[in-house]
Amino acid sequence: MGRYLGPSCRLCRREGMKLMLKGEKCISSKCPMVKRRTPPGQLPKRRSKISEYGIQLREKQKVKRYYGVLERQFKRYFEIASRRKGVTGEILITLLEQRLDNVVYRMHFAQSRKMARQLVRHGHILVNGKKVDIPSYFVKEGDEIEVREKSKKMTAILESLKNVSKVGTVPWIEVDPDNLKGKFLYIPKREEIDLPVNEQLIVELYSK
Ligand code: SF4
Repeated sequence: MGRYLGPSCRLCRREGMKLMLKGEKCISSKCPMVKRRTPPGQLPKRRSKISEYGIQLREKQKVKRYYGVLERQFKRYFEIASRRKGVTGEILITLLEQRLDNVVYRMHFAQSRKMARQLVRHGHILVNGKKVDIPSYFVKEGDEIEVREKSKKMTAILESLKNVSKVGTVPWIEVDPDNLKGKFLYIPKREEIDLPVNEQLIVELYSK
């Protein structure tokens, strides 16, 4: 299945959570999830009971949409997570957090993960001084991420950086907004990541 091209806010309403897909609007009072939390479309008179499989599937969709990854890539992350020692669901989420596009977004060089992916693909981002244009690149502890010199005046990036003071940063990422650079300090623990999903349900889904 390809990428979804319809209205982003509809996806949030579908999943019943803020997926943060529209940048500035997501942190403002204009976000439809602030007022309307019902799923899109006409509401049935009586809600039908969702099956166990349906609940597991929704949980997977939430995570995929939040990080903007497609089914094939997502499955690959799951396979990597299940081969590692530890709690598979938690490892899955931390692997997704290590994606370069996610780190660029968390550093507020981009207002959404989608925009972060574009910045990476178009070669605006350096990792430890070298251009990396692969959004799925795994960022490691201690890696330094920076906007390349030629791109430091890009309006979209400078606008996004205003969010450092508006919404703050996560503890595992250090950001230097004046120099458009930052450091991935450590791999976060699951409980530090602000993602309200039950990843164990995804593990159960893939284990069938
Ligand atoms: Fe739309 Fe962003 Fe709010 Fe989601 S979080 S409903 S994408 S404004």
